[in-house]
Amino acid sequence: MTSNLSSKPWLPQTPPPDITFCNANVVDTELGKVVPNSIVKIKDGLITEVTTGDIQPSLLDGSNVVDLEGQYLCPGLIDCHVHLIATPGSLLLKDILSASPNTLAYRTAFLAREMLLRGFTTVRDTGGADASLRQAIEEGLVIGPRLFIAGKALSQTGGHGDLRASYQGEEYKCCGGHSPALARICDGVPECLAATRDELRQGANFIKIMCGGGVATPADALDMLQFTAEEIRAITTTAAYSKTYVTAHAYTVDAIRHAVDNGVRGIEHGNFIDEETAIYCKDKGVIFTPTLIVYQGMTRPPFDHFLDEFSQQKNRKVLESGLSALSTLQKVGATICYGSDLLAGLHSLQNEEFTIRSSVLSAKEILQSATLNAAKLLGMENRLGCIKEGALADLLVLKENPLNDITVLDRVEKSLVAILKDGRVVYKRSKWLSVDPMYDPCRVQST
Ligand SMILES: [Zn+2]
Repeated sequence: MTSNLSSKPWLPQTPPPDITFCNANVVDTELGKVVPNSIVKIKDGLITEVTTGDIQPSLLDGSNVVDLEGQYLCPGLIDCHVHLIATPGSLLLKDILSASPNTLAYRTAFLAREMLLRGFTTVRDTGGADASLRQAIEEGLVIGPRLFIAGKALSQTGGHGDLRASYQGEEYKCCGGHSPALARICDGVPECLAATRDELRQGANFIKIMCGGGVATPADALDMLQFTAEEIRAITTTAAYSKTYVTAHAYTVDAIRHAVDNGVRGIEHGNFIDEETAIYCKDKGVIFTPTLIVYQGMTRPPFDHFLDEFSQQKNRKVLESGLSALSTLQKVGATICYGSDLLAGLHSLQNEEFTIRSSVLSAKEILQSATLNAAKLLGMENRLGCIKEGALADLLVLKENPLNDITVLDRVEKSLVAILKDGRVVYKRSKWLSVDPMYDPCRVQST
C-alpha cells in the first residue's frame, strides 16, 4: 500500500476496520424476515461471521464492538438502472450534451456521492458512465456506490440513443466513444460487432441496447422496433463470447420478444408487457428492471417541462401502464430488479421508487428487488444484497424495519442511522465508531 500511496496519494491510507455488531435485527433478504439478537463480524471489508446470541465478554475487548440496541442491519441497496453522467445542469433534457466532458465529470461526482448517501451502495449504470468513473470510485477519488457499467448504450440511427434533432446530420452523430453521451450509434452487423467489442474493450461489465422506441428521444414512436434480428444476434453473441450479457431497453410486447428471441437476457422498463410474454420471458430466465419513478417525476413541477411535447405524450402512456406491468411480472414470478432511470435534477427522487412499488408489491418483494435480485443480475449472488459469511460488508443501519414498511427506505433522512461500504463507515448518525477517513474528505491528512 505504501508504494501505491506514493503514486496515488488519494488511496485509502488505512485498511477497513474490524467491526462486530451485536444485538442487531438482521434483515434476511432471502427469507424476508428479521433475525433478532444477531452478531455480525466484519474484517477486511467482508462479513466473516453471522450468528445469534448474546455477545461473549471476550469480544468486548475489541474497541469496535457496537451494540446496535435492536436497530436493523440491512444489506446496502442496489439500483439497477441509473445514468450517472446525465447532469445537464438544466431543467431541459435537450441540454444534456451541452456541457464539456470535465464539467459533466465534476457534476457526476456530486451525483455519485448523493446516491451513496441515499443508501445505494451499488448501482448499475445503463448508459454513459465509463471505466474511469468506476476506477475513481474504487480508489476513493470519487465518493460513490460500487459501479457496474454498460459504457455507452448501443442504438441504431433514429433509435432511442439518437438524441439528434431532425435537422442535425452526420456531424452530430456520436463519435464512436469519445464524447460524453449515454449512447452511441451503430448500424448493420459489422458496426454492431465493432461497437460491442469496443465497449467491452473499454471495460463495460455488460452491454445495453435500444430495441424499441423510447420516451425521451425525438424520432422514435413507442411502438417502433429497433435493430434487426441479425444486428441483435451479432451483439448478444459477442457479449456471450466475453462471458457477459446484453440488456435491452424495450416497452412493447413486440420489442421485448424481438430482444429476447435474439439472445437478450435483461429487459429494462417493459411497461407494456402482457402476461403471455411475461411467462415466456420468465421461462427463459430473463431479468426485468422496471423504472417507474422517472415517468412520474417528469409529470410534476419543476420537471414537467423536462421533455418536449412529443415526449410528454409518450411519457403519459408509459406512466399509465407501468404499475400494471409490475403486477403482471409479479404474478408470473419473474425476477424483478429495482430501477430509477433518473436524469438531471430528478435524481433526488431515487428512493421514491420504493413507495411507488408498494401499491403493487409486498415489502419483501420490493426489498428483494433492490438487494437479492439485483445481485443476481450483477452476477454477485452471495456477495451483495445479503448479510452472510463471505459477502461484502455493504450495510445500512436503520431505525425501522423495511420488511414492515418499505417506505422507510423512501425516508432515509429519518430512518438511516449509518451506511457502510466495503466495511468502512461512509456516514453515521450515532455515537459509535467514526466515519472512515476515506469518506471524510476534509480530514487532516496524516503525515
Ligand atoms: Zn435509462
